[in-house]
Amino acid sequence: MATFQSVAGDVGTARHRILSAIRAHGPLTRAQLARAASLAPSTVTEVVQALAAERTLVETEIVRSEQRRTGPKSRALAFEPSLSATVGVDFGFRTVRALVADASGTPLADGRAELPADYGADEGLRIARQLVDEVIDRAGVPRPPNAGVAVPGPIDTQHQEVVASSILPGWAGYDSAAFESALGLPVILENDANLAALGEHTYGAGRGVANTLTIKFHSGIGAGVILHDRLVSGIRGGAGEIGHVEVDPQGPLCRCGKRGCLDTFASVPAILATLRPHREVDSVGELLALLEAGDAGAERCIRDAALAVGRVASTAALLLAPERIIIVGAMARAGDVVTDAIREVLERQAIPQAHTVPEVVLGSLDDRHSAMGAVAIGLGAQGWLPEESTPRRPESTPRAG
Ligand SMILES: [Zn+2]
Repeated sequence: MATFQSVAGDVGTARHRILSAIRAHGPLTRAQLARAASLAPSTVTEVVQALAAERTLVETEIVRSEQRRTGPKSRALAFEPSLSATVGVDFGFRTVRALVADASGTPLADGRAELPADYGADEGLRIARQLVDEVIDRAGVPRPPNAGVAVPGPIDTQHQEVVASSILPGWAGYDSAAFESALGLPVILENDANLAALGEHTYGAGRGVANTLTIKFHSGIGAGVILHDRLVSGIRGGAGEIGHVEVDPQGPLCRCGKRGCLDTFASVPAILATLRPHREVDSVGELLALLEAGDAGAERCIRDAALAVGRVASTAALLLAPERIIIVGAMARAGDVVTDAIREVLERQAIPQAHTVPEVVLGSLDDRHSAMGAVAIGLGAQGWLPEESTPRRPESTPRAG
C-alpha cells in the first residue's frame, strides 16, 4: 500500500507528475503518460512498475476513442479504485451533503440529509456522522484517511477552528479535533465559498484558469479567491466575505451585526422578502418558477440583486483582476438574468481600454461545488493534487485575539 508521504517526498517528483497526469486525464497508457508528465519513457516504466507493485496503479483494458481500433490494445494505467478516497462534507443552512470521491476526484457515492432550522453544532455533526458512514458504506471503500469540511461561516484556517461570530453562533470554537471526534476521521475545515472556488478551480468551470473569483450567490453571499492557482484564505480565513460589504450605512440590520450589508439586499432571503408583499414565494424553487413564467416583479428583484452583487464584484475585479468570475449557489439557477446583470456592471466599472473585463460564467458542478472543494482539500492534504493547487497552511502563526 502506498503511503502519501512517499508520494510527496523528493524522490516522489516523477511519481507526483505521473499521479497528477492520471488525475487530470483519467487512465493513460505509458506513452501518453510520458508525454503528459514530460518524463523520459524509461522513467515512466520504472516509476509505473513501482506504483503497480504497491497497488497504487492498476492496468486496465480501457481503449480510448482516439486510439486506433486495430492492433494490440494498449494497456492504460488507472488508480487502484479502493486505494484512496476522501469525503467532502458541505454544511448548508438547512442541509448537509457528504460525497465520497476517489483519488482522481471522481464521486463514488453522494448523499444529503435535512438539518433542522437553526441547528446547533452537536446536532449538525451527529446527522453528518450518520450520513458520512452511510456514503462510505455505499462507496464500498475502506474508511478514507481524511475529510474536507465546508462550513457556511468564517473559519480560522490556520488554527482550524470556527471563528466566533454572529453568523454561526452555535459553532464558535469548534475546531478540527471536535469535528474529527464527531465524524470519526481527520478533518480539514474551510469556509464554504472558499471551497466552492477550490471545487470549481480543480474540477469545474475554473479548470485551467489561474485567477478566478467564485461568487456563491445563495442564502448568504460569499466569494472565493483563486490567485496564481492558489486559494487565498487571508487572516482568520476572512478573504472573500463580500456578503458583508456595506452597501447602505442606513440599510437593514444584517445577521452579522452591521447595517446595510450586501446580504441584506441581495441574498436569497432578501430577494424573497422584497417580493413577498406582492407574490406568494417561500423558496428559491418558487422564485425561479415565477421567473420562468415571465413574472416581471420576480425578474426585476433578481436582476436588482445581481446588479448589487455585480457592483461589489467589480470592485473586487479592479483589485484582483481575475480572468473569470464564476457564479454558483441557488441564484446561479436563474442563469442569464444573473450573469448578464453582473457582466453589465463589470463592463461599466472597468477602466476604459486599460482593463480586460473578466468573463462571467456559471459554475459547472451544480450544487456540489463546495463538496467537491472539500474533496480537493482532502486529496490535496493526502498529496494527490499538484502542490501549487494545494492551499498553503502555515504551521506556526500566533493565535489571534
Ligand atoms: Zn453583514
